[in-house]
Amino acid sequence: DGLSELLLSRIRDVPDHPEPGVMFKDITPLLADPVAFAALTDALAARCAELGATKVVGLEARGFILGAPAAVRAGVGFVPVRKAGKLPGATLGQAYDLEYGSAEIEIHAEDLRPEDRVLVVDDVLATGGTAEASVHLLRRSGAAVAGVSVLMELGFLAGRTRVEAALEGAPLDAL
Ligand code: 5GP
Repeated sequence: DGLSELLLSRIRDVPDHPEPGVMFKDITPLLADPVAFAALTDALAARCAELGATKVVGLEARGFILGAPAAVRAGVGFVPVRKAGKLPGATLGQAYDLEYGSAEIEIHAEDLRPEDRVLVVDDVLATGGTAEASVHLLRRSGAAVAGVSVLMELGFLAGRTRVEAALEGAPLDAL
Protein backbone atom coordinates (compact mmCIF):
# COMPACT_ATOMS: atom_id res chain seq x y z
CA ASP A 1 0.00 0.00 0.00
CA GLY A 2 0.95 3.69 -0.01
CA LEU A 3 2.42 3.69 3.48
CA SER A 4 4.65 0.68 2.82
CA GLU A 5 5.86 2.22 -0.43
CA LEU A 6 6.64 5.53 1.25
CA LEU A 7 8.54 3.86 4.10
CA LEU A 8 10.44 1.50 1.83
CA SER A 9 11.47 4.38 -0.44
CA ARG A 10 13.18 6.05 2.54
CA ILE A 11 15.29 3.04 3.58
CA ARG A 12 18.79 2.99 2.15
CA ASP A 13 20.69 -0.19 1.31
CA VAL A 14 24.30 0.00 2.48
CA PRO A 15 26.42 -2.87 1.12
CA ASP A 16 29.10 -4.55 3.26
CA HIS A 17 28.05 -3.00 6.58
CA PRO A 18 28.96 -3.79 9.31
CA GLU A 19 30.96 -6.51 7.56
CA PRO A 20 31.56 -7.80 4.02
CA GLY A 21 28.57 -9.58 2.49
CA VAL A 22 25.92 -7.90 4.66
CA MET A 23 23.42 -5.51 3.08
CA PHE A 24 22.51 -3.12 5.90
CA LYS A 25 19.08 -1.45 5.90
CA ASP A 26 19.73 2.14 6.95
CA ILE A 27 16.70 3.98 8.34
CA THR A 28 18.30 7.42 8.75
CA PRO A 29 16.82 8.78 5.47
CA LEU A 30 13.36 7.92 6.83
CA LEU A 31 14.09 9.73 10.12
CA ALA A 32 15.27 12.77 8.17
CA ASP A 33 12.01 12.95 6.19
CA PRO A 34 9.32 14.53 8.42
CA VAL A 35 6.44 13.17 6.31
CA ALA A 36 7.69 9.58 6.36
CA PHE A 37 8.68 9.71 10.04
CA ALA A 38 5.26 11.11 11.00
CA ALA A 39 3.49 8.46 8.90
CA LEU A 40 5.47 5.72 10.64
CA THR A 41 4.80 7.25 14.06
CA ASP A 42 1.06 7.43 13.33
CA ALA A 43 1.00 3.82 12.12
CA LEU A 44 2.76 2.56 15.25
CA ALA A 45 0.47 4.62 17.49
CA ALA A 46 -2.56 3.22 15.67
CA ARG A 47 -1.27 -0.30 16.22
CA CYS A 48 -0.86 0.51 19.90
CA ALA A 49 -4.52 1.59 20.10
CA GLU A 50 -5.80 -1.41 18.09
CA LEU A 51 -4.01 -3.84 20.38
CA GLY A 52 -5.02 -2.03 23.56
CA ALA A 53 -1.38 -1.58 24.52
CA THR A 54 -0.68 0.39 27.69
CA LYS A 55 3.10 0.71 27.18
CA VAL A 56 5.53 0.81 24.28
CA VAL A 57 8.78 -1.06 24.85
CA GLY A 58 11.56 0.06 22.50
CA LEU A 59 14.63 -2.07 21.77
CA GLU A 60 18.03 -0.36 21.86
CA ALA A 61 18.85 1.69 19.98
CA ARG A 62 16.69 2.37 16.93
CA GLY A 63 13.62 0.99 18.70
CA PHE A 64 13.95 4.01 21.01
CA ILE A 65 13.82 6.45 18.09
CA LEU A 66 10.71 4.82 16.60
CA GLY A 67 8.97 3.74 19.79
CA ALA A 68 9.18 6.91 21.88
CA PRO A 69 7.23 9.25 19.56
CA ALA A 70 4.69 6.48 18.93
CA ALA A 71 4.13 6.10 22.68
CA VAL A 72 3.61 9.85 23.09
CA ARG A 73 1.23 9.92 20.12
CA ALA A 74 -0.74 6.97 21.53
CA GLY A 75 -0.85 8.48 25.01
CA VAL A 76 0.98 5.59 26.70
CA GLY A 77 4.31 5.31 28.53
CA PHE A 78 7.63 4.21 27.07
CA VAL A 79 10.01 1.66 28.59
CA PRO A 80 13.47 0.93 27.11
CA VAL A 81 15.02 -2.52 26.75
CA ARG A 82 18.78 -1.95 26.85
CA LYS A 83 21.95 -3.90 26.32
CA ALA A 84 23.25 -5.27 29.62
CA GLY A 85 25.05 -2.87 31.93
CA LYS A 86 23.42 0.40 30.84
CA LEU A 87 20.37 0.71 33.10
CA PRO A 88 21.14 2.17 36.53
CA GLY A 89 18.40 0.58 38.65
CA ALA A 90 17.41 -2.98 39.53
CA THR A 91 17.21 -4.92 36.29
CA LEU A 92 15.67 -8.09 34.95
CA GLY A 93 17.94 -9.66 32.31
CA GLN A 94 17.61 -12.13 29.46
CA ALA A 95 20.56 -13.76 27.69
CA TYR A 96 20.27 -14.98 24.12
CA ASP A 97 22.50 -16.62 21.53
CA LEU A 98 24.11 -14.79 18.65
CA GLU A 99 25.73 -16.35 15.59
CA TYR A 100 29.03 -16.08 17.45
CA GLY A 101 28.71 -15.86 21.23
CA SER A 102 25.83 -14.43 23.20
CA ALA A 103 24.25 -11.16 24.29
CA GLU A 104 22.08 -9.96 27.13
CA ILE A 105 19.29 -7.39 27.33
CA GLU A 106 17.83 -5.76 30.43
CA ILE A 107 14.78 -3.83 31.58
CA HIS A 108 13.72 -1.88 34.65
CA ALA A 109 10.88 -4.26 35.48
CA GLU A 110 9.53 -1.87 38.11
CA ASP A 111 8.49 0.48 35.30
CA LEU A 112 5.96 -2.14 34.17
CA ARG A 113 2.86 -3.25 36.04
CA PRO A 114 1.27 -6.71 35.93
CA GLU A 115 -1.79 -5.18 34.23
CA ASP A 116 0.31 -3.63 31.45
CA ARG A 117 -0.05 -4.82 27.87
CA VAL A 118 3.11 -4.07 25.98
CA LEU A 119 3.77 -3.34 22.30
CA VAL A 120 7.40 -4.11 21.44
CA VAL A 121 8.89 -1.81 18.76
CA ASP A 122 12.10 -2.13 16.78
CA ASP A 123 13.34 -1.02 13.38
CA VAL A 124 14.49 -4.24 11.70
CA LEU A 125 13.71 -7.89 12.36
CA ALA A 126 16.63 -9.99 11.11
CA THR A 127 17.20 -13.40 12.76
CA GLY A 128 14.50 -12.54 15.31
CA GLY A 129 16.81 -13.26 18.23
CA THR A 130 16.50 -9.81 19.80
CA ALA A 131 12.71 -9.66 19.53
CA GLU A 132 12.34 -13.24 20.77
CA ALA A 133 14.48 -12.52 23.84
CA SER A 134 12.50 -9.34 24.51
CA VAL A 135 9.20 -11.23 24.47
CA HIS A 136 10.57 -13.77 26.97
CA LEU A 137 11.98 -10.98 29.15
CA LEU A 138 8.65 -9.14 29.21
CA ARG A 139 6.69 -12.27 30.12
CA ARG A 140 9.08 -12.82 33.03
CA SER A 141 8.50 -9.21 34.11
CA GLY A 142 4.83 -10.11 34.58
CA ALA A 143 3.49 -7.88 31.80
CA ALA A 144 1.44 -9.22 28.89
CA VAL A 145 2.86 -8.86 25.38
CA ALA A 146 0.23 -7.35 23.06
CA GLY A 147 2.42 -7.70 19.98
CA VAL A 148 5.63 -6.84 18.20
CA SER A 149 5.76 -4.13 15.52
CA VAL A 150 8.81 -3.55 13.36
CA LEU A 151 9.39 -1.17 10.50
CA MET A 152 10.95 -3.83 8.33
CA GLU A 153 11.34 -7.59 8.30
CA LEU A 154 14.17 -9.31 6.45
CA GLY A 155 12.03 -12.20 5.22
CA PHE A 156 14.87 -14.40 4.02
CA LEU A 157 16.20 -14.86 7.56
CA ALA A 158 13.03 -16.53 8.91
CA GLY A 159 13.02 -14.44 12.07
CA ARG A 160 9.21 -14.38 11.94
CA THR A 161 8.93 -18.07 12.80
CA ARG A 162 10.82 -17.81 16.07
CA VAL A 163 9.20 -14.56 17.16
CA GLU A 164 5.72 -15.89 16.41
CA ALA A 165 6.49 -18.99 18.47
CA ALA A 166 7.47 -16.76 21.41
CA LEU A 167 4.38 -14.57 20.93
CA GLU A 168 1.91 -17.46 21.45
CA GLY A 169 -0.75 -15.94 19.20
CA ALA A 170 -0.07 -12.22 19.65
CA PRO A 171 0.65 -10.49 16.33
CA LEU A 172 3.99 -9.64 14.74
CA ASP A 173 3.64 -6.96 12.11
CA ALA A 174 6.10 -5.36 9.74
CA LEU A 175 5.06 -1.99 8.38
P1 5GP B 1 18.07 -9.90 15.05
O1 5GP B 1 18.17 -10.09 16.52
O2 5GP B 1 16.63 -9.98 14.56
O3 5GP B 1 18.99 -10.75 14.26
O4 5GP B 1 18.60 -8.43 14.74
C1 5GP B 1 17.77 -7.36 14.95
C2 5GP B 1 18.49 -6.25 15.64
O5 5GP B 1 19.67 -5.90 14.93
C3 5GP B 1 17.59 -5.04 15.67
O6 5GP B 1 17.70 -4.40 16.94
C4 5GP B 1 18.08 -4.17 14.55
O7 5GP B 1 18.13 -2.82 14.94
C5 5GP B 1 19.48 -4.68 14.23
N1 5GP B 1 19.67 -4.94 12.80
C6 5GP B 1 20.03 -6.11 12.21
N2 5GP B 1 20.16 -5.96 10.89
C7 5GP B 1 19.86 -4.67 10.62
C8 5GP B 1 19.81 -3.88 9.41
O8 5GP B 1 20.06 -4.32 8.28
N3 5GP B 1 19.43 -2.58 9.55
C9 5GP B 1 19.15 -2.04 10.76
N4 5GP B 1 18.78 -0.75 10.80
N5 5GP B 1 19.21 -2.74 11.91
C10 5GP B 1 19.55 -4.04 11.83
